[in-house]
Amino acid sequence: MIEIKENFSLKKYNTFSFDVKCSYFSTFSKVDELKELIIIHINNKYPLMVLGGGSNILFTTDFEGLIIQSIIKGVEIISETNEYVDVRVGSGENWDEFVGYCVQHDWSGIENLSLIPGFVGTCPIQNIGAYGVEVKDTITKVETIEIDSLNDFVFSNAECNFGYRDSIFKKELKGKHVITYVYFRLKKKSEFVLNYGNLNEELQKYNLINLKNIRQAVIDIRNSKLPKPEDFGNAGSFFKNPEVKAVKFDELKRNYPTIPSYPQGNSRVKVPAGWLIEQAGWKGKNIGNAGVHSKQALVLINLGNATGNEVLNLAKEIQNSVNQKFGIQLEMEVNVV
Ligand SMILES: Cc1cc2nc3c(=O)[nH]c(=O)nc-3n(C[C@H](O)[C@H](O)[C@H](O)COP(=O)(O)OP(=O)(O)OC[C@H]3O[C@@H](n4cnc5c(N)ncnc54)[C@H](O)[C@@H]3O)c2cc1C
Repeated sequence: MIEIKENFSLKKYNTFSFDVKCSYFSTFSKVDELKELIIIHINNKYPLMVLGGGSNILFTTDFEGLIIQSIIKGVEIISETNEYVDVRVGSGENWDEFVGYCVQHDWSGIENLSLIPGFVGTCPIQNIGAYGVEVKDTITKVETIEIDSLNDFVFSNAECNFGYRDSIFKKELKGKHVITYVYFRLKKKSEFVLNYGNLNEELQKYNLINLKNIRQAVIDIRNSKLPKPEDFGNAGSFFKNPEVKAVKFDELKRNYPTIPSYPQGNSRVKVPAGWLIEQAGWKGKNIGNAGVHSKQALVLINLGNATGNEVLNLAKEIQNSVNQKFGIQLEMEVNVV
């Protein structure tokens, strides 16, 4: 049964810990409850927003409307062969607990995505990625309810239009569908991806390379580099790594010979946003209560009682100075509300 709470504090529901409220808040544990909430939204004309773990959101103000959060649970095996297992997972499952569950069962494919905060239902939205792996390579289908029609939809992997930190749910269909279940195909014969960052180096500590040790290595690296939201509110990488044309990159390379780069194979080159921000002098700096993390310049942090607008203002200052220095416009990865 749904319960609607009024004037609800979101401080514990966003990893920046901004002290904002919404007019109404409710969770849903099944699709029928979700439909009931959507009807309440339509009948009362309340603006509607879906919230997962709040780890990719920057609230700049109170939300005058209804916020709904999935608590749809369950990991159900749909089919299985000697090679792989297909599972259907409720959107309200915690992402990292699901990764742990797969590793425990020796199912490979998402172990490099350990310790990313958030819910399973949100992982397709920005096609979460880390340590050389993107979740799109394991997602087979996404089930949704369309808000306007209340109809059930099933999106195939191709229909999700996945890209780098991107999908149809972040673009054309932003705010139009609620994701209820995600389907994954995980491999029983492990294929490890170890050639990214210092993962291989970290694994030297172990006698054996297996899913459990890879997961632990990723967790250890992340814990050593990224601020925990409990210590400093943050939303992980604030900006996307920009892609520039090869011609533009050649010009940058002439002026900044040490610039790191990841060729994309389509005459485009990806440049780490963290490097650009650091070169523009922002690493460890702050404006008021909003800061740039001292170990990872891509992460903007709440130093205490920052508001969403203070962090947004800092982000805009960073965008301006990176643009002035390098002629590159950084795009925000975080959803601003
Ligand atoms: C410390 C830290 C580290 C991070 N590291 C990484 C990383 O390595 N790689 C990476 O890709 N990301 C990373 N992130 C970002 C974030 O964890 C992911 O984007 C995650 O998938 C967000 O999940 P969430 O449930 O918290 O989403 P939320 O922040 O709650 O929501 C994000 C967006 O999705 C929408 N939404 C939420 N649930 C649904 C639903 N069921 N249906 C439709 N729309 C919905 C919301 O309206 C919002 O627009 C990190 C964040 C933090 C704080």
